[in-house]
Amino acid sequence: MKVRAAVAYEDRAPLVIEELELSEPGPEGILVRMAGTGLCHTDVKVRAGGLGVAKPVVLGHEGAGVVERVGERVTKVKPGDHVVLTFDSCGACGPCRRGAPAYCDESAPLNFLDGRSGAPGSFQKDGKPIHGHFFGQSSFSTYAVARPQNTVHVRRDAPLEILGVLGCGVQTGAGAVMNALRPKAGDTIAVFGTGPVGLSAILGAVVCGCSAIIAVDVLAARLEMARQLGATHAVLANATQDAAEEVRKIVRGGVDFALGTTGQAESNEQAVHALAARGTFGFVASPAGSHLAVKMSTVMGRGLTIRGIVQGDSQPDVFIPQLIDLYLGGRFPFDRFVSRYKFEQINQAIEDQARGQVVKPVFTFAP
Ligand SMILES: [Zn+2]
Ligand SMILES: [Zn+2]
Repeated sequence: MKVRAAVAYEDRAPLVIEELELSEPGPEGILVRMAGTGLCHTDVKVRAGGLGVAKPVVLGHEGAGVVERVGERVTKVKPGDHVVLTFDSCGACGPCRRGAPAYCDESAPLNFLDGRSGAPGSFQKDGKPIHGHFFGQSSFSTYAVARPQNTVHVRRDAPLEILGVLGCGVQTGAGAVMNALRPKAGDTIAVFGTGPVGLSAILGAVVCGCSAIIAVDVLAARLEMARQLGATHAVLANATQDAAEEVRKIVRGGVDFALGTTGQAESNEQAVHALAARGTFGFVASPAGSHLAVKMSTVMGRGLTIRGIVQGDSQPDVFIPQLIDLYLGGRFPFDRFVSRYKFEQINQAIEDQARGQVVKPVFTFAP
């Protein structure tokens, strides 16, 4: 079938919106008519040449839409169902069987290294293949083919066009707190970095009932937004003050939990030094080649835990509907940091986000 998709042809070049051919979903595929797709940092990184993803490619991995058609072996959803698409997983390996699909043994080939040229749900332009299946979806497209493993059935009374962000960025931040770190009511947390992932983590910390939620960032405007979303304190990270020290002034002795969302070495080290004895540092970003320089004697002597977290440890079929329920109950207002753009404005949105003018763009598709 004919679709309109945004193609990344060359590193850092603007995406090109054009007509492509999308092949049939196949027996296990789910054809989704996209309502909206979020822009995630990983899209930006891959467009710039990162993560070994071959071009030309259709990116996009925060899609939400309506099921148009399903393959004959699909029983999970039916045409007309509202769905959020998320990261792909195999469903059969050890981590998948233990309920931890974010740590799937097949994660890299399924989400980044499309080896399925010619497989169901592939894109073509004038008979030549365009890479797809990015995060099992490639949802910068009016239609995309997903699989049961990365398709989450959601309630119909939520604003479908913005729900896709729950499938990656928002579940990464909120899940890091709610599923992985799991603070008890009254515990304290510092969130380093207040982009979409950090702000989602702050919303998660509010849901968990943390008594102190300290946002740390270099941008004063983001800190203001963090406060509006429930951060109890804000620390401006700059050259003249030590952020760890500032956190420890707010919560004497340090915080129970610190979450690193920036991927920057200095910020991560400050996060570790902001911890109380027996505290936990979780992190959700690890740029290629990055290291954490922390003395083992510090980790041992203070009984610290260091925890890498992928996709918020989410079981998306459980967690995404929970986040939607919380949102509709007024307790998880992630829409406050979402900015809507038309799909045709995709390059504008990427620029606006890079300049810090918007936090989380979502592209909406005309019905
Ligand atoms: Zn697996
Ligand atoms: Zn993402």
